[in-house]
Amino acid sequence: MNRPTAPSPALRLEFDAEALQSNWRALDRLSGRARAGAAVKANSYGVGAVRAVPVLHQAGCRDFFVAHWAEAAEILDVMGDASLSVLHGPCSEEDAAYARAVGIKPVINSLRQARLWQDAGGGACDLMVDTGMNRLGVSLHELGEPVLAELEVDTLLSHLVSAEEDVALNERQRQGWREACAALPHQRASLANSAGIALGEAFHGDLTRPGIALYGGVPRPEMAADLHPVIRPQAALLQVRQVQPGETIGYNATFTATRAMRVGTIGLGYADGYLRCWSGKGHFTAGGHVLPVLGRISMDLTVVDLSQAGQVGEGDWITAEYALPEAAAQTGLSQYELLTLMGRRFNR
Ligand SMILES: *Cc1c(COP(=O)(O)O)cnc(C)c1O
Repeated sequence: MNRPTAPSPALRLEFDAEALQSNWRALDRLSGRARAGAAVKANSYGVGAVRAVPVLHQAGCRDFFVAHWAEAAEILDVMGDASLSVLHGPCSEEDAAYARAVGIKPVINSLRQARLWQDAGGGACDLMVDTGMNRLGVSLHELGEPVLAELEVDTLLSHLVSAEEDVALNERQRQGWREACAALPHQRASLANSAGIALGEAFHGDLTRPGIALYGGVPRPEMAADLHPVIRPQAALLQVRQVQPGETIGYNATFTATRAMRVGTIGLGYADGYLRCWSGKGHFTAGGHVLPVLGRISMDLTVVDLSQAGQVGEGDWITAEYALPEAAAQTGLSQYELLTLMGRRFNR
């Protein structure tokens, strides 16, 4: 039997390709003489890597970064002539063999990874040097190890701990990164993530690696004017109903109607990343009308107040309205979490 393809879900992430291009161009410009690359890990922070990568390539981006090897395959298919680096580096011989076979650069993070890569035959790679994160990366005291001198390093990277804050650690990390650059041959140097770009030319090197700011996050207030939202969650109203004064809405009856109201239910819930911290706080819009969230967010459903939206009815689409910085302040989640939590049930 030929089964028809499933209908598209009543849940989608509206994607603004022009905003993404404009954000990349702004970050590339703010990077001065350095080129901007793009972190496209975690499905481009939830935005959808398969649609984001070609748009970024068209804007001029030629350096992409993912975290896992499993994230690489779908990027390879859509990135054209760009280069792709895997931040976690080779953990096994299988990883190293795969990188060589498909032409991806591993980011070498440790002496063991350096040996694994060289034993697999080596070739162009990136090198992560730890300057204070103590997460991944070769330590500064290891820079003299012979296996590192054998590597064919394209980009020598380090990663900033607190670039969104003005702290002394930024400068200490910059000095560690310069020290590493002086110690080992490499083609390009790279330090700044999104927030690091705003720290100025001394932090730029040859390549910057923005992620969150590409997708509309604002890591430092001075970057706000240059960055625009890229996605907006939207859902279709599954049902519209009339609620009487005294009736409650949703689990645990946390909202009680004080007047007769028209309410609508959408198929979006905490399983989709629309977390319970939005309960009674979030709002949607339709045709310029504001639709506040009523009561608890459920796993698969959310109820909104349609009192102010006369014409909106079943089947109509409504949009979750939030700017990431304000939403982070309102929910207690980080802008990174707000983006990457958006689940697999969204049509991307
Ligand atoms: C995720 C990541 C980035 C991008 O960071 P943002 O803060 O999202 O700009 C850059 N470099 C490395 C090593 C990363 O892991």
